[in-house]
Amino acid sequence: MTNGEGAPAAAFREVAPGVLLVDTLYVRPHLAAAWIVQGARSAAVVETGAASSVPRILAALEARGIPREDVSHVVVTHVHLDHAGGAGTLVRALPRAELVVHPRGARHLVDPAKLVAGSIAVYGEARFRELYGEIVPVPAERVIEAGDGFALDLGERPLRILDAPGHARHHFVVLDEASRGFFTGDTFGLAYPECYVGGRPFMFPTTTPVQLDPPALHASIDRMIAERPRRMYLTHYGLLDGDVGAAAEALHRAIDEHVRRARALPAGAGAARHAALRDALAEQLLAGLAAHGALRGAPGGGHLPRERALELFATDLDLNAQGLLVWLEAAQQG
Ligand SMILES: [Zn+2]
Repeated sequence: MTNGEGAPAAAFREVAPGVLLVDTLYVRPHLAAAWIVQGARSAAVVETGAASSVPRILAALEARGIPREDVSHVVVTHVHLDHAGGAGTLVRALPRAELVVHPRGARHLVDPAKLVAGSIAVYGEARFRELYGEIVPVPAERVIEAGDGFALDLGERPLRILDAPGHARHHFVVLDEASRGFFTGDTFGLAYPECYVGGRPFMFPTTTPVQLDPPALHASIDRMIAERPRRMYLTHYGLLDGDVGAAAEALHRAIDEHVRRARALPAGAGAARHAALRDALAEQLLAGLAAHGALRGAPGGGHLPRERALELFATDLDLNAQGLLVWLEAAQQG
């Protein structure tokens, strides 16, 4: 499913009837998706990427022949900025669109100051500016706070919101009833196209700070599977179809392994502790890729060089270690 990096990216790819995948080109190709869902009456955009991704989304709408006035909703699964950083910029460009967001996330998109400060704490000021630029607030009157069970209809195309805590408390997932597919945000982990082997995804969790809750994350995954979805639309990255249940099992195991490795850390503090956990997660990643048949030079062979694998997951390993440590410290104090 990859274009080959460096090739000019198409405006969109239709992965199921009326479901368009847009590569936001956030950081690199095939890292962060936005989606366009077309109903009989209107369209929705699900996930926005960063502000720099918005021209890509507008170009996809134009290439598909969807007038900007026909977009009724912009939906963000949660307010982490690789999912929602472009919300204000996009809503400004779509005259009728309302923003659909988790009740716990809404105020942060209306007044992004806290979100910006939190993100600078994670990425550092320079990297933050480079990744996200300016965060445009969303006018409060255009925000819909969507709790569990909230439904919207694009015209013979109902979308249903399910609360999905675990990765963050401000996270929901969106079921497209027509295609029986979930827009999973970060709740169904990462499955990068570069790591597929024989059509099978390699599943890896995303345990970003600061609201990680592993038991809640397991429960949210189970809740999605209980709906018997046929496919998943992952923000990171793309269509996951085939054996969705097997992918969920692999993800459950990988989350448990993350938790085990975090709990096994020797006592210590600060940067050394973070580096130790990051290394332990890198070891999990490489062992997992080898077992999956993706890693070049491993028994069983594979196509992905070790250095390339570590590069693809570099930011994830860093953030996953941070998120696990924040969770662990809170759990030990509580
Ligand atoms: Zn996230």
